[in-house]
Amino acid sequence: MSITFQDMGLSQPVYDAISDLGYINPTPIQQQAIPVLLKGTKDFVGLAQTGTGKTAAFGLPLLSLIDTSIKKVQGLVICPTRELCMQIAKDFEDYGKYMPEFHSVAVYGGTSIDGQIRQIKKGVQIVVATPGRLIDLIERRALFLDAVINVVLDEADEMLNMGFREDIEHILSQATSRQAAWLFSATMPKEVRRIAETFMKDPFEVKVDSNITAKNIKHVYYQCQSSQKYETLKRLIDYNPGMYGIIFTRTKLEAQDITEKLLKESYEIDALHGDLSQQQRDKVMGRFRDKTLQLLIATDVAARGIDVDSITHVINYALPDEPEVYTHRSGRTARAGKSGICISILHNRETGRLRDIEYLTKAKFEKLEIPSGREVCEKQFYSFIEKLKAADISHGDYENYLPYLSEQFADMSKDEVLQRVASLEFNRFLKYYEKAGDLNASGRDSRSSNGAFTRLFMSIGEKDGFYKAAFLEFLLDSSGHTKAQLGKIELMDAYSFVEVENAIADEFIATFNGKKYRGREIRIERSGDSGDGGGRERNFRGGGGRRSGGGYGGGDRDRDRGGNGGGGGRRNGGGGGGGYRSGGNEGGGGYRGGNGGDSGGGRRRRS
Ligand code: AMP
Repeated sequence: MSITFQDMGLSQPVYDAISDLGYINPTPIQQQAIPVLLKGTKDFVGLAQTGTGKTAAFGLPLLSLIDTSIKKVQGLVICPTRELCMQIAKDFEDYGKYMPEFHSVAVYGGTSIDGQIRQIKKGVQIVVATPGRLIDLIERRALFLDAVINVVLDEADEMLNMGFREDIEHILSQATSRQAAWLFSATMPKEVRRIAETFMKDPFEVKVDSNITAKNIKHVYYQCQSSQKYETLKRLIDYNPGMYGIIFTRTKLEAQDITEKLLKESYEIDALHGDLSQQQRDKVMGRFRDKTLQLLIATDVAARGIDVDSITHVINYALPDEPEVYTHRSGRTARAGKSGICISILHNRETGRLRDIEYLTKAKFEKLEIPSGREVCEKQFYSFIEKLKAADISHGDYENYLPYLSEQFADMSKDEVLQRVASLEFNRFLKYYEKAGDLNASGRDSRSSNGAFTRLFMSIGEKDGFYKAAFLEFLLDSSGHTKAQLGKIELMDAYSFVEVENAIADEFIATFNGKKYRGREIRIERSGDSGDGGGRERNFRGGGGRRSGGGYGGGDRDRDRGGNGGGGGRRNGGGGGGGYRSGGNEGGGGYRGGNGGDSGGGRRRRS
């Protein structure tokens, strides 16, 4: 039989309020915490992360215990950030809606202290505060803790991470009248343990099983080359049209970099970073909350306190150093009984760290293939059709326009109109993904075997005076590309084979084809494109030409790829340019991104 709130001994007005909110069954942390906390005198340590219902776990008992006839602070909640502070205060308002004499206040830095002092003076029973502002108020003698019975430390590990240890110790030593301290933390590093040992007496400890917590979170990862992370990120965003989430980066610089790029490409995103003023931050958060922004880009520091329900995805653009941080990040999704996905984009060297995280968090990670350009297009297409079908035409007098519309489209079949409508939304995807390569990295950093590279034949070689390094330098200088965009290079006597990223293949060919080097005209083409090229390659494989010892870009990698000779990069979409065809409409014209020249590389900048 499942436990209900009715059995838990909450005060009647609090019980009525949560019934209105639709809470029926307590979450695991609530089941374990509420009976203990309602005693009012027992110290408590709860290991629970955000999204588990921990605010209600301490909030419901706290409100049940206060005496609203007394206009003094009886409950004190300390939390790391302004956002969390406001969120908790708002939850308390909901829980206290049937307690007319109940008043609480949220006090935090970055805003005028005078208004907060005025609110406190009116008489409040609960104060929700960030540590710095709380101490400020105590020192100004605007707030007294002499009647405080219960002190709650919420997200204790975050507060200590942020350097609030001394402030917390100071506050706890000031609240001498307290009968119990309740500490909540997602993780239990030794600094948190020390606070518990110093300021608590034999606390009742509860840990919500991380499996229960994580049940609704699916942990997945994608593996790509480090130089392809941004492309992979974009592809995953495009592949998930309904995505609403946070992208975590390791550094501020990385956050800035991808923010700039995504903004340039018109994604609905913004960044949260430490340089924002409080107002700017609130504005960004407001736009995120009302879903004007699809994605927030943030470092761990900047994302502290973000507390938004209905986040569908958390993306780790880079894995955090600490497994605990992973837990914090992924806990931003799958809140309030919903499910969520935590995506990590890894390059090969990060897999070890992933194993550590897997071990420590007991999360199960599933490796997924980075979707192909075609799969992205399909997803977008179907999502668009759903949007079209769900479009609300009940407002706006569309009927009045019908005669005009009918006239305009009189000569067009319904099929054609539909195709045109779809193309308006959809062409940009087609164009972009038409020639997009495979971004999946194989486990051993073997780039040419994963098909992200196109193998090109070039009619210059050692006899033109090149040796390995000089040839690479020549290619990079002339093309403006980076080494990471090139794969294996084989320098022969009279010619060479060069692997380049699929996305830059056309551009690369155009750069060199027909140009002269030391009086000799350079010919460059896709290896195997013509019977001629293939034949040449077969001749070479047949043992004719001298092979220069391996290519560039790391001997190991080349050895890994030893057996991967003739095939070259996977061709995208065949000769026709890979236009997307709607399922089942074979031969029916489909949707084709006509412009062959504007490949995936078209949006790319030369480095
Ligand atoms: P928290 O972990 O406190 O941030 O809570 C996560 C979300 O779960 C909040 O949106 C709460 O409103 C919701 N919630 C908390 N407890 C319950 C419950 N027993 N039943 C349904 N929803 C709840």
